[in-house]
Amino acid sequence: MADFHGLALSEPVRRSLDELGFEEPTPVQARAIPLLLEGRDVVAQALTGTGKTAAFGIPLVERIDVAHNVPQAVVLAPTRELAVQVAEALCQLGRYRGVRLVPIYGGQPYDRQLRALRHGVHAIVATPGRLMDHMRRGTVDLSSVRMLVLDEADQMLQMGFQEDVETVMSGLPQERVTALFSATMPKPILDIVGRYMREPEVLRLSQPRALTVPEVEQVFYQVAFPRKLDALCRVLDARRPERAMVFCATKRMVDEVAERIQARGYVAEPIHGDISQPLREKVLRAFREGRTEVLVATDVAARGLDVPEVELVINFDIPPDPEYYVHRVGRTARAGQHGEAITFVNPREMRELKLIERVTGARIRRAELPTAAEVEERDLQVLEERLLDVLSRDGWTRYRAVVEELLEDHDPTDLAAAALAMSATARPARASARAKANSALAVESGWTPADEHEPARRRPAARSYTKNTRTGSRRPPVAGRRGSGPAGKVGQPAKPSPKA
Ligand code: AMP
Repeated sequence: MADFHGLALSEPVRRSLDELGFEEPTPVQARAIPLLLEGRDVVAQALTGTGKTAAFGIPLVERIDVAHNVPQAVVLAPTRELAVQVAEALCQLGRYRGVRLVPIYGGQPYDRQLRALRHGVHAIVATPGRLMDHMRRGTVDLSSVRMLVLDEADQMLQMGFQEDVETVMSGLPQERVTALFSATMPKPILDIVGRYMREPEVLRLSQPRALTVPEVEQVFYQVAFPRKLDALCRVLDARRPERAMVFCATKRMVDEVAERIQARGYVAEPIHGDISQPLREKVLRAFREGRTEVLVATDVAARGLDVPEVELVINFDIPPDPEYYVHRVGRTARAGQHGEAITFVNPREMRELKLIERVTGARIRRAELPTAAEVEERDLQVLEERLLDVLSRDGWTRYRAVVEELLEDHDPTDLAAAALAMSATARPARASARAKANSALAVESGWTPADEHEPARRRPAARSYTKNTRTGSRRPPVAGRRGSGPAGKVGQPAKPSPKA
């Protein structure tokens, strides 16, 4: 797929994209941007979450003549929320070109909108009814508009805006580029296309059924943005994957997440388009050899990476396109192994999650973040695995004499438990990070601090060391998982990151 450099964008827009951390156009962007830049009309069947806003937003800000202080582009959106969201996105895209715009929607006082319009704007993002009011009152001059976008056109018609949309369209100059984005293409939409658009290029994207997600356990957690990092640490602590991949939407987020989890004691490395080739190879080698436990990546950097399958994929950011979801999840559960994919979503992203489910046929179950007690349980399980591993090898017999002597005065179970406690001192960075994360998450979910001090739940007397009893995932015993290397992680100091 072409990158943004192949799209002949101006330097200021490229700078905005860089700042947003967009590395590569999504499919709808790759197809719609060149057409709209050329001045062709476009009808795109693209849903929310596919990157459609930038698909029309990039050409829109490129087409504005900023020296000309009048509205040159109009975007119509069905709701005030979408209008505001689109206006924000356009603001970010047009920041360095100096594009000024205003959202105009019902429910907001007219005077604020009038002030903005009088002050001069290059683009207007509006709900149809309110824009029509301004047209009627003569408070907006649309005679210089050269581009019109109908966003979520089917929603707009469903909400009864058909007449208003047509009034606005007829009131605009004929010489213009028109783009229509809609999830579905019912007849009234096709009528509008036929009457108000000039030989539009029709783009159909994210074809259903072309994408299938492998058979892996897929869940989502509702996590508010500021809590994502704590949630990530909680999940990593509870699962203790030998290899996990964490996906973020942007390079900037990848760097931030990698850096912040490194600071919390995880052996994590970032990978994205700005990482030099030699460093990239070094990072990948460490990940393949099991020296790095978490790879934090953008979709683009992850594509085609030669890394072994991972036990756990975490979508720190919801993928910008359902296709990416399939690629991400495909990193786990290769060769018939059990894998798990976890997606963090906030309530505003539920629509995007539903879209992923619809397009890919995936069933993504809602689940709750692992509790502090589950993390504790996993700690004990790892300790147990490690103990059995030590027992199966040489090197401990010289301690027998000490134990035999101590046994004269102490209970054997007490002795063994004390020995385990001695070796279970968690990595200091992780331990304090976990305490911090726990208190942050406790505030969020209403857990009481007392929960954090409860002993781990009683574990079954007999357990299989190859099966995680909670997720059902098969885990090989710790011994041999890393060849002849150190058998476990508990009690070992944090391995320095190759970068540190
Ligand atoms: P939309 O479909 O326009 O609502 O976009 C969905 C999400 O994808 C938004 O959070 C965008 O910021 C993000 N996004 C759009 N284009 C890209 C891209 N090329 N790379 C990464 N993220 C993107």
